[in-house]
Amino acid sequence: MHAAAPTPSHCFPADYAQGRARFLAAAAAAGAQLSHHELPGHRGRQGEVLALEAALLPARPEADGRAPLLIVSRGVHGVEGLCGSGCQQHLLLDHELLALARSRGVDLLFLHAVNPYGFSHLRRGNEDNIDLNRNCIDFTAGAPAANPGYAELHGWLVPPTWPPDDAVQQQLNQAQQRLGVAAYRRAVTAGQNSHPDGLFYSGQAPSWSNRTVRERLRTHGAQRRHMAWVDLHTGLGPRGHGEKIHAGRTTQADLLRGRRLWGADVVAAWEGQSASEQVRGPVVGCVYDECPQAEVAAIALEFGTVPYDQFLDALRADQWLHQHPEAPAALAEAIRQGMRDAFYVDADDWRGMVAAQARVAVLQACLGLGS
Ligand SMILES: [Zn+2]
Repeated sequence: MHAAAPTPSHCFPADYAQGRARFLAAAAAAGAQLSHHELPGHRGRQGEVLALEAALLPARPEADGRAPLLIVSRGVHGVEGLCGSGCQQHLLLDHELLALARSRGVDLLFLHAVNPYGFSHLRRGNEDNIDLNRNCIDFTAGAPAANPGYAELHGWLVPPTWPPDDAVQQQLNQAQQRLGVAAYRRAVTAGQNSHPDGLFYSGQAPSWSNRTVRERLRTHGAQRRHMAWVDLHTGLGPRGHGEKIHAGRTTQADLLRGRRLWGADVVAAWEGQSASEQVRGPVVGCVYDECPQAEVAAIALEFGTVPYDQFLDALRADQWLHQHPEAPAALAEAIRQGMRDAFYVDADDWRGMVAAQARVAVLQACLGLGS
């Protein structure tokens, strides 16, 4: 008999530093091959080192890099790592699940803190205010497509004062009524490259995280024929519900591959079924550039937290704070707490729901990928 299974409540960290320390300990105990990738030029909120860590758990000791590979990543959106780190910890301590992956011949690759700066500083963007899930585009093909809808809204989304005055809020409400909810949300969240100080900013060049993930993919994925990827997120959808959002290319063939692994409830944002908008340049998309030989099934597993308006207001406030470091300490602290609450529900029932759904997604992938 193994020791008692870990309960979700004990797996979720209070902050980045604790999540990282626990991840490194659990990965080492599970026999993982670890690699560290330190973010140069930046430190965390407590002055700590910031790093993306990769932990490979090969199914066989004589692994040759050709077995099916399941990637579990988290923290693409910094602050969302509070949830993802807990889920990964829960998985790494789950001896039965790891044994099942081995028995099916599936190698596991855990990516911890794809955006370590955002995790530590409780921001969604990275050290350059870039949304990593809008940054993995082909910058050599010219400037990314413009998003004029965002440009029109920017001054109201990130107003000069916080909380915003009534006139700003009124303008935003009117814009939402004029555009309709779907078009409004698309304009706000689909990604933009015109406002480096704005929300959902794609950046002007590949970020450090983008380059580091690509390097890990070339190292671990260059010879794989079959791969699957579960990228953990939070913020959108009903509280505690894990929406399986297709994260592969926008083709029916890729969508079907995802549904074969994870079921008919894999939704496609481009079909209007998802709580999320279709985005350009998600991190998962790097796999098609770096491992073109592989058949890949990929989902973002998005766990709901708070209502949409609260989610968006937390991001607006955080963006305002980023530009106003002189803000009173009490307001700054309230804004940071607002970010935490929008992306991580501090309740045992929520932790139990998200850990269980992450486990199911990994289980399904191991069964579908393995032999
Ligand atoms: Zn996210």
